[in-house]
Amino acid sequence: MINSVGMNSNYVQYCKPVFTSQAQNNVAINPNVETKTPKENTNLIMQYLENQARNNVSSPYNVSTPIWTHAFGNCDNMKVTDAQGNVVQNVEFKKDGDKLTEEIFVKCVNGSTVNKTIINDGNKKSMELIFRNKNGEITGQENRSYEKIDNDTAISVHNGKTYKISGLSSDVITVEHNGQKKVIDLAKKIQPTLDTIENEPTQKQISQEQREFLINSVKKLSGDIILKFDEEIDQMVMLDTDEYEGFYRNDNGVRKLKLSPKVKDDMTFIHELGHAINRIDSEGNDVNQNNWSNKVCWSDNKDFAKTREVEMNNFRNRCNNDSIIQPMGKFIYDDFVKKGYVTYEEAQQDGQDEEFAEMTGFVNCMDVDWINERVPCMLQFMPDSTQMVYKKNQELL
Ligand SMILES: [Zn+2]
Repeated sequence: MINSVGMNSNYVQYCKPVFTSQAQNNVAINPNVETKTPKENTNLIMQYLENQARNNVSSPYNVSTPIWTHAFGNCDNMKVTDAQGNVVQNVEFKKDGDKLTEEIFVKCVNGSTVNKTIINDGNKKSMELIFRNKNGEITGQENRSYEKIDNDTAISVHNGKTYKISGLSSDVITVEHNGQKKVIDLAKKIQPTLDTIENEPTQKQISQEQREFLINSVKKLSGDIILKFDEEIDQMVMLDTDEYEGFYRNDNGVRKLKLSPKVKDDMTFIHELGHAINRIDSEGNDVNQNNWSNKVCWSDNKDFAKTREVEMNNFRNRCNNDSIIQPMGKFIYDDFVKKGYVTYEEAQQDGQDEEFAEMTGFVNCMDVDWINERVPCMLQFMPDSTQMVYKKNQELL
């Protein structure tokens, strides 16, 4: 994993005071400095102190460019510090024999914290996610585990609820929970042809390998997520491109989860499923995504939009680090014209949808996988709105 963003200045720029002694050494560079009077120096000191004060106020926004260090394989650790050197984002990978661990820590701008630990040990994986308020009190907790019993059977547990998944050696799987059995024929959910990146159908037939790839991407999920997938998705589609990772689309009433051949992580899958969960389609007639004004999503909620607006304005006004601003673009949509939207409001509706999908992925994914900078950024700078998505997730999943 490579940090694709160029190395920018670590901290918010402020005007450094220029003292006479320093100026004398820099005559050739800036002759104007030579003429500074003592009064002007006093002003510069005042300006320096004012800037210091401002930097302290917006300290959680005044952060370093992500610092990447190699962990193992494709995994790189990532650390971000604030102006005082405190760690505000930390993603750390560890390898101990076959046991892989990923730890994610975020200190949010409102003082709350997020800790997520994922352990992947051969046939067993687990996840613990803890949200704490600024006083250190636990405000939310998610526990997951998944264990492969044999080639055909797995047991997953989510917050104490157990799901038995069987039939994994075939394409017809059964999820048992609370005495209820749900049989899902995954082969029936595969679209026989590929779609283009523009979500247009092609004549190309899906290969056996691609079909297995899509089926396996469902089989490796937890029981509750598989049940949600069955409820929300009518068809799985292979994209005829690896330019994008995936899409959720409602094509004339058929709810489709589309994946590119390169997607192997559960995070992308659950993110796209998150878009499906976000769509309110209890009547069974999902609105067409292409017409944004008809879109009805949980994330269209006015309080959610307003909370985001406050968080985004604070971020815009207080964070000057381009390497942090860039990954936040996924949720903020400031470049809406470039993205093809006519109005800011129209783009915001999709920004809200993206935040909902990403948070759904973060809360439910237990893959030890490379991390995208945008997840810790979203958590750090948008703590109140991400909590709103988390609360909604608890109702829906
Ligand atoms: Zn998305």
